[in-house]
Amino acid sequence: MTGQTAPAAPSQGVSVDVPAKINPHLGVGDARADGYHALSTVYQAISLHDTVTAVKRGEPGIEITISGEGAGELPTGEDNLAHKAAKLIALYAGIEPDVKLHLNKRIPVAGGLAGGSADAAGALIACARLWDVEIGDAELHRLAAGLGSDVPFCLKGGAAIGTGRGEELTPVQAKGSWHWVVATTDTQIATPECYKEVDRLREDGIGRYSRDVDPIVKAFEAGADADTLARLLVNDMEAAAVSLRPQLASLMHGGLEEGALAAHVSGSGPTVLFLATDVKHSVALARRIRMRGGARSVHLAHGPVNGPAA
Ligand code: ATP
Repeated sequence: MTGQTAPAAPSQGVSVDVPAKINPHLGVGDARADGYHALSTVYQAISLHDTVTAVKRGEPGIEITISGEGAGELPTGEDNLAHKAAKLIALYAGIEPDVKLHLNKRIPVAGGLAGGSADAAGALIACARLWDVEIGDAELHRLAAGLGSDVPFCLKGGAAIGTGRGEELTPVQAKGSWHWVVATTDTQIATPECYKEVDRLREDGIGRYSRDVDPIVKAFEAGADADTLARLLVNDMEAAAVSLRPQLASLMHGGLEEGALAAHVSGSGPTVLFLATDVKHSVALARRIRMRGGARSVHLAHGPVNGPAA
């Protein structure tokens, strides 16, 4: 969508695949006056995605159904981020919303992988196409940022530096592709809970703001090997996530013992990412982590991958 009319919707509707995000670098600054924390992050979209499908209902309203991860637990009304996104696009276009949205979720919920933000980005794009809304990139980005800090990146995909509260993006031309084993756990961590713990630990002098993203950005641009990347992964929220859910420490330790090059908490957790040397290593590593137990589910993923608006 670059300022032209979005392609017309096929009669059966519009389907959009939206990848999860990870943060190979997540620097967290102090809380700002508006309550958000300043971020200096590097995002990477990975090959684990939700699919958002929009079809016309034939009468005004927004209806949401969900299958897969979180079905039966997640709200299907106005609290769902996809609902908010559909409402926002309709408001922007000055039309009555008329849509059935189906979310086929593969991205674990409240796992630090931005599943809700991915659905919001997918709903923005799917509804714009379904309703033939003419919207430029800048305007779409503005609506996305109003929905959540990770939503603009979920629209774009690939790799990018995020500043501000994560919504100000600078694309990174990554040359390589990296292979991850994504291990989810039985617990969830709400992002605000994790920020609160970061603040509490900082008051005790634990942790500092890792603002400099240059080393990892250079590694992305150079197509660095996984060994190099392993040494550059940073997450200022990791100590807080482990403090909230101490069982993460043994999951991380176990993956390292099984040969992962690095163990890295994804965003605010509790999902743990293990970096593998290559695809073959990731398959073997995933099998060993599964056999060891301690994870709710174990997935293979690679990144960066293109986003829905690429
Ligand atoms: P982030 O890393 O973006 O802060 P997360 O990946 O940790 O978020 P999400 O899966 O986005 O977590 O879900 C966080 C909360 O958002 C959920 O517990 C749920 O209450 C709410 N939510 C609203 N809409 C959705 C949606 N479509 N999918 C998932 N969660 C949603």
